[in-house]
Amino acid sequence: MEAEWLAALPRLRERVGDRNFATWIEPIRCVRDEQGLRLEVPSRFFQEWVTRHFLSRIRETLADSAGMIPTVRIVVAAAEATSAARDTAPAAPQRAIRTRPKIGRLVAEYTFDTFVVGHANEVAYRAACSVAELPGRRFNPFFLWGGVGLGKTHLINALAHDLLARSPRRSMACLSAEAFMNTMITSLRQDQMAAFRDRFREVDALILDDVEFLAGKERTQEEFFHTFNTLYAAGKQVVLTSDKPPHAIAELEQRLRSRFEGGLIADIHPPTHEMRIAIVTKKAAVQGVDLPPSIACILAERSGPSVRELEGALTRVLATTSLRGMPLDVEMVKRLIAPVTPPPTVISVESIQETVSQHFRLSVVDLKSHNRARSVTFPRQIAMYLSRRLADASFPSIAEKFGGRDHSTVMHAVRSVEDKRNQDPNTGSLLAILESEVRSRASA
Ligand code: ADP
Ligand code: MG
Repeated sequence: MEAEWLAALPRLRERVGDRNFATWIEPIRCVRDEQGLRLEVPSRFFQEWVTRHFLSRIRETLADSAGMIPTVRIVVAAAEATSAARDTAPAAPQRAIRTRPKIGRLVAEYTFDTFVVGHANEVAYRAACSVAELPGRRFNPFFLWGGVGLGKTHLINALAHDLLARSPRRSMACLSAEAFMNTMITSLRQDQMAAFRDRFREVDALILDDVEFLAGKERTQEEFFHTFNTLYAAGKQVVLTSDKPPHAIAELEQRLRSRFEGGLIADIHPPTHEMRIAIVTKKAAVQGVDLPPSIACILAERSGPSVRELEGALTRVLATTSLRGMPLDVEMVKRLIAPVTPPPTVISVESIQETVSQHFRLSVVDLKSHNRARSVTFPRQIAMYLSRRLADASFPSIAEKFGGRDHSTVMHAVRSVEDKRNQDPNTGSLLAILESEVRSRASA
């Protein structure tokens, strides 16, 4: 094996993690030839995967330890052994894999590897993995919804990468609903609708991002409806994302809505503090920065609610510190993010009680009472659930604020609302609406 490869291995292990290292890096055999470093891997799938997920990190690591950027190729070892001619032919690993045409473009970094999983997105993540495993079979369509910047686009890109890694010859369309519409309009203008239909109706998987954009766009909905039906009937996977659940998308034709509701609906919630720390640490690691926990914590605490804002804060901090050649220190990071982002709004159990009772036209006294009428128990459970999720309060302290109940009552309420949320999209959107009311009250 080449010395520079062996020298880079320990650093590479740090960068990709032990598990990835054992699975994807250790089996690689590195040989130097006239064209540079040749990394031999056991299969095409392996080649595709390593190229997609690790090649840039391999290059960086080799560059770090060798002080120069080497030419690196990833080639399938078996093919090399049987064909001596290949050794001298200029190898182009990416091009060696023949894939059918794809519509749209995937973001290379948005993979399952770089997606941090926690309570807030676990269901959505698992669903996405299942879809990638058995496309068109288990959950079709797969409808993913959640607020802005919570990882929907990331997750569907990860799903798409995974589908391709499992079967590189698969054809796929992965694009925003807006891009779908624009393509359609261009095709209409150029009198190319037949070609447009063929293109979309023969893919093996169609992934459409931000379908709420279709609201009120009747012609596009019509076209999409037929595309959907053709693909669905042929057992092809359809994946959709939106910032709201299907029934809350205004001006969406009933027939499309019922198609969207016919498969699996999963939602992504805002990440918890721990997840935000994990995400920002991972984002930094991708950029080769080892973020100290104290700084990850400040960023997670002080940037805005969406992950996109969290990332923005990280980018700002990393850019400023590297431009000025400053080390990362806590006080400076605080100063850097303080002026741009207001401190997080504090949500109290009391304000949740007020919002929920107003919404259901009850009094706060009713909500805290021991009245067991269903018209009161359901709102009470919802208020307890929201207190747990949004107010960062413990079960006993919530129980105390709901008329001095036992904390197990609150635990039961939270679980029961979670069950309803997972089974019934109406509960999901009711919770989303209440959550945004609570938040806007808190920030008012
Ligand atoms: P959405 O499509 O829901 O608006 P995106 O998928 O564009 O959100 O996510 C915004 C940013 O936050 C992206 O850079 C994405 O990588 C990042 N992000 C969101 N959730 C996660 C997560 N769980 N793990 C890692 N990165 C995440
Ligand atoms: Mg998005």
